[in-house]
Amino acid sequence: MNLLDYNREDLGQFFTEWGEKPFRATQVLKWVHQLGVTDFDEMTNLSKALRQRLHTETSLTIPQIVTEQVSVDGTRKWVLELADGNRIEMVFIPEDDRNTLCISSQVGCVLDCSFCSTAQQGFSRNLTVGEIIGQLWLAEHHLRSQNIYATDVQQRAISNVVLMGMGEPLANFKNVVKAMNLMRDDFSYGLSWRRITLSTAGVVPAMERLKQQCPVNLAVSLHAPTDELRNELVPINKKYPIAELLNACRDYIKNESRRKITFEYVMLQDFNDTPQHARQLAKLLRNVPSKINLIPFNPFPNSPYQRSSQARINEFRDILIKAGLITVTRKTRGDDIDAACGQLVGRVFNKRQGHTQPIMMQGARG
Ligand code: SAH
Repeated sequence: MNLLDYNREDLGQFFTEWGEKPFRATQVLKWVHQLGVTDFDEMTNLSKALRQRLHTETSLTIPQIVTEQVSVDGTRKWVLELADGNRIEMVFIPEDDRNTLCISSQVGCVLDCSFCSTAQQGFSRNLTVGEIIGQLWLAEHHLRSQNIYATDVQQRAISNVVLMGMGEPLANFKNVVKAMNLMRDDFSYGLSWRRITLSTAGVVPAMERLKQQCPVNLAVSLHAPTDELRNELVPINKKYPIAELLNACRDYIKNESRRKITFEYVMLQDFNDTPQHARQLAKLLRNVPSKINLIPFNPFPNSPYQRSSQARINEFRDILIKAGLITVTRKTRGDDIDAACGQLVGRVFNKRQGHTQPIMMQGARG
């Protein structure tokens, strides 16, 4: 059993079963997540007998860093290998006022969005809680060991986490929620919900459950102002069309202190980027408190679309701003190391064929 899969409650229960005091849970959480200690012998406030038992009966399995690449703009991309040989990637994006980590929730994806390279490679499996929180563990302690800290949060390397890597986080609901609650636990990372953003293609029923179980910032991959167009880009739209999705968005922020939904909109030349599309989008979002992120499309081999020109993107943005919508164009970060959205490459271990194949994934912020 991997202790990284356990949250405070699980650990409390676990130690009680062993006849230990429940507060051992918070001690172990602190050692592992706050201090980055994985050797039970170093956990000096636990009895020697308990350390020995942990040693023989449990493990702390963390994804392995295969490669690390650093971009000229400071963005870093890590390729991680999981215990079963699957590979995923995560991206670190340093900014003046924050350090953001973009993490994955699945190996591959089932959603089949036409502009996303992950779709072309299929789905392997959900990540475990330990593999999701393990990404934050790795980045946090690896960066700290290099004296890299976020400027705005005392003694922490990562100040913000975005679930915008490979996979659909709401399709791996249980593990994702458990991992996010661990990120928020004061005895592990103590990240406020304001510093965690989950991006979804629009798994409507799970949005309501997310609000109840782990209300974090929500980003929605909208990408088109009409069902006709969105059906082509994001096929899950056929199941949960735009009107239902926007209702779920309104519900998500109703009576809550988080006041806005972020809408992601990938800019595809001549496909969804005309002034008419912008006006349709402005009308659509009139009654949804929102922030719009325009993402210049990052092409990949055999992709059927092209990135909109800068002039088109600016014109689109200005129409939205004039209509009163908060709109920003996402900066492209780390594209020299293939770390931008749509450029990450993982690897699915294909048991049937007995060999590995590369997979592309959508990555961090733009
Ligand atoms: N499945 C979730 C999480 C992925 S988040 C979701 O759909 O929201 C990654 C973001 O990058 C999404 O908004 C996605 O639509 C976008 N993206 C995917 N491929 C891209 C590409 N080739 N260029 C630009 N953005 C892309």
